[in-house]
This record gives sequence, C-alpha cells and structure tokens, in this order.
Amino acid sequence: MKAIEITYKKNRKEKLTYDEIKYMVNSYIKNKISDHTMSEFLWAIYYNGLSIEETYYLTDVMINSGDTIDLSSLNKTVVDKHSTGGVGDKITLIVSPIVACAGVCVPKMSGRSLGLTGGTVDKLESIDGYRLKLQKEEFLKELKDIGCAVISQSNKIAIADKKIYALRDEIGAVDSIPLIASSIMSKKIASGSHIIVIDLKVGSGAFMKNIKDATRLAKTMVKIGAYYDKEVICILSDMNTPLGKNIGNSLEVKEAMDFFNGIYDKRLYELAVYISSMMISSAKKISYKKAKQTVINILENGHAKNKFREWIKYQGGDLRKLKDKARRIVVKSHENGFVNKIDPHAIAKLVFDLGAGRRRKTDLIDYAVGVTLNKTIGSRVREGEVLGTIYYNKKIKDMEERLVDSFKIEKKKKPVKKIVIKTIK
Ligand code: URA
Repeated sequence: MKAIEITYKKNRKEKLTYDEIKYMVNSYIKNKISDHTMSEFLWAIYYNGLSIEETYYLTDVMINSGDTIDLSSLNKTVVDKHSTGGVGDKITLIVSPIVACAGVCVPKMSGRSLGLTGGTVDKLESIDGYRLKLQKEEFLKELKDIGCAVISQSNKIAIADKKIYALRDEIGAVDSIPLIASSIMSKKIASGSHIIVIDLKVGSGAFMKNIKDATRLAKTMVKIGAYYDKEVICILSDMNTPLGKNIGNSLEVKEAMDFFNGIYDKRLYELAVYISSMMISSAKKISYKKAKQTVINILENGHAKNKFREWIKYQGGDLRKLKDKARRIVVKSHENGFVNKIDPHAIAKLVFDLGAGRRRKTDLIDYAVGVTLNKTIGSRVREGEVLGTIYYNKKIKDMEERLVDSFKIEKKKKPVKKIVIKTIK
C-alpha cells in the first residue's frame, strides 16, 4: 500500500477500506510516514469527509492503537460523562457524586486544559493533595467503594488519537466532524463504560458554533457507539455565555462546593440536574421524571455533598486547603440596563492571560486566578454596581476594561436562551 494512493483515493471522494485507514494510522504512529504525508491525508478527510462506516473504521483503528479498560469486575452499570469543552464548565465535579449516590458507577478520565478550554484535571489539582494518578487496582477499588473516581487520562489509551490530534491542532484541522467524532469516541469506547453521556457545547464559547453542525456531530457519535453496543446520549447545551459564576480552577471547585450547599446559579443547576437525571434514567432504566426526583432528593438530603467530600478525601484531597491565594479587584458597571450577553471567549481569554491556562502541555498554571461574575445573563444592572471580581497574582494590561467589555448591557432585556438545547440518542 502507498500512503499517497490512499490520500488520492479520498481526494477523489472514494470510500476507504478498513485496511487502508489502518495502514495510514499505524504507519503514522510507527513514524513510517511523515507529519507532512499524514497532514495531506487529514486534509483529504477534512475537505471530503468520511462516511459513517469509514468514521467507525478510523475510531476502531485508534482504539486498537492503545489499551482498553475492562470494568466488568464492577458488576454495575457504568456511565461515563464527557464534555466537549466550555468556559466555566465544572459539571463533572457536580454530577459525578450525584450519580454515584444513585448507585450508578462513574469512572472518569479527564484531560488538562490546553488553550482556552479548562480541564477538570486542573480544577482538581487546585485541591491540595488530590491524586490524579491511580493504579488500575486503586481506581477500580475506589469505584467499588464509593462509586465515582476522577483521574487523569492515561497515556496508553487511544495512542494514535493523541498523535493525530496534536497534528490536527498544529495544521488547523480540528473542526472536522468525522475527525472529532472518531477522536472522542475512540477514547470513550476504550475507557470501558456501558453508557456514554456527552455534553456537547454549542455557541461562541465552544468549538461547535452552531446547532446544525453540533447535531451532525451528535448523530455521528451515536452511530459510532452503536457499532460497539454502547448507548450514546448527546446533550446539546448552550455555550454562548460562561457556565455558572466562576471561571478559574480553584474558583470552580468552590462553586461546586457552594452548589452542594444549595447556593447555585440557576442555569448551572438546570444543566447539572438534567445531565445527572439522564445518566441515572438510562443506567437504571427508569423514567426521566423519576430520575430527576432522585437527583433532587440526593441534593436536598445532603448525600451528594457528603459523596463529593468522600470522593475528594479518598483521592487524598483536602478541601480546606485550596490553592487560592490571589489578590482581587472588583469591576463596576458604567451603565444601567440588562446583561444581554457575556462573551465566553473574551472571559476565557482574560482568565487564560491571568495565568489559568497553558499554551504548551508542559506550562505551569496559576490555580488561584480567574473571574467571578457578580452579574450573569439576564441580570438587571445599575451604574456603579459590581459586574465581576478579578482574582490575579500579576496585573495584566487593561484587565478591568476587558472584563467590562465582555458584558453587553442594553436598555431592553432579551430573552435568555435555554441551557439545554436538545438531546440526541
Ligand atoms: N475533543 C477531542 O477529544 N477530540 C477532538 O477532536 C475535539 C475535541
């Protein structure tokens, strides 16, 4: 086989076979073809697409490039929850203990932040002592003992995806539906859960900018899941405004703690309850209504709060010791009106520049910095009222103005978009 022939075939919009896709991926991970040759192949896919069958082939080859995890010893329905990445997304911290309280197992392997998107691993690392690397036996024991565990993504899972994703990132070929679907699904299938719930963010703060593309991606992932007998549930959720009130690693852990104490942002609550209920409903095969009532009970009787503490302690974390030492400055409004938009991209960029994110995987980050939004979407605001608070350790140019400019305040209130757009399964 010749790599160039396979690329030409895709450029002629012909269907590739399993063996051709396997040849390209395996040759690339064994360094038998160059970045340049692989880029040509990825561009051919980017412009000509892949059928569902070809997307499945690519997924399968990437799964087989690394380890797969066997969770059958848990003897329970296991549900994984994945987010495609948003601004202020602390949903994993909230739903994992809720769902575990309902007797459903939630194993999670999470990533670090890269670029503007935050990573659950960084949020957890802002808790002193929290261990993100567990041996497989420890991970399984924790799941058996308490029902949820969150560790960092193993380097041995979907090895081909890691190398191909890095190349896609470098050449600007990330936003291709078959490439995204196979990338996400290869990691999720290899991780061994029975049910995969994907929080697919849509909007200006997400990489899926519109509902049409997000729907196509969701349908592709559901179909790939079917090849493996996995139920895939994609929840399209709005990311045209940050999720919740805090953006920044330790700040988001505090927001999760507040959530369990009954102090929460309404949209964050709505999404967390929806996702938890969908996970429980599908794992326990009960109606959504019944699952939602279970979630509300678990939150109100304090079980979720206790489970959250138990989980963090189990992995060595001390919630009394957060890496949260920062100075703060409040930022006030210059006008009267209603908050009709808070630009998630502008907020993410500000928090990134304050030091919360990394450009390269090896960069160090500041866990304490970030932004708290005192006003959220739909809020009424008067001149001189606090819009938000910036937590910083090194001042950056125009930071207060940048926070003010990320708010769009208008005289007339616009309707606030629903957080859950639709569910595809
Ligand atoms: N997340 C992934 O894991 N892969 C992609 O291609 C895009 C987002």
